Amino acid sequence: MNHQLMLQGIGMTSQRTRTRLIQRLRDEGIKDDRVLDVIEATPRHLFLDEALAHRAYEDTALPIGHNQTLSQPYIVARMTELLLENAPRRVLELGTGSGYQTVVLAQLVSSVYSVERIKPLQDKAASRFKLLGLDNIRYRHADGGMGWPELAPFDGILVTAAPADIPRELLSQLSEGGRLVIPVGETSQELVVVTRRNGRFEEKIVEPVKFVPLLAGIIR
Ligand code: SAH
Repeated sequence: MNHQLMLQGIGMTSQRTRTRLIQRLRDEGIKDDRVLDVIEATPRHLFLDEALAHRAYEDTALPIGHNQTLSQPYIVARMTELLLENAPRRVLELGTGSGYQTVVLAQLVSSVYSVERIKPLQDKAASRFKLLGLDNIRYRHADGGMGWPELAPFDGILVTAAPADIPRELLSQLSEGGRLVIPVGETSQELVVVTRRNGRFEEKIVEPVKFVPLLAGIIR
């Protein structure tokens, strides 16, 4: 892949903890080596406040402020693996958050478009994209519940906050053969994959998950 990280910043200790994380992801059933290699190379500690950075290579979700979380590495790996199955080039991500999932995606596909409703989170994420030298990410401060219609269609849409139901607008922004990976539900949630084939939408439930809710409106 052409989009490799310019900045690595791997110390000895963190290389060891990263190797352990990759082994754990394999044990949990992640099979795609491209995804595992990218997760191993991505400095997750840069996506956290300093006080939490020492926990960056644990397989756990961690707080990023504003009641939001950096997703667990397992779920990032799983969603990315599902999305890559149909070899997407242009991918829309809803819920930039820390920008970690965005950066993982940007190393695996041609272009990533990412929408975040909380401006301070987006600002921090944007500074990380710059620091890491990734130039194939476009981002937007908006309510992403409607997708990004001006730039549709997308070969892949990955949503990292859970709506109660699948937003129909997102389906219409998928290209033929395109795929939506999305957590759905309120008190209990499932990870759902929808693939557009011959104008029809094939839906598959993957596994139970726990995400923050997809919310309407923006925060400046
Ligand atoms: N992928 C992120 C996950 C962050 S949590 C990471 O690993 O860091 C989910 C994010 O979705 C939050 O930042 C939240 O503000 C954002 N979000 C929730 N509803 C949204 C909406 N309607 N449009 C855009 N972003 C939204």
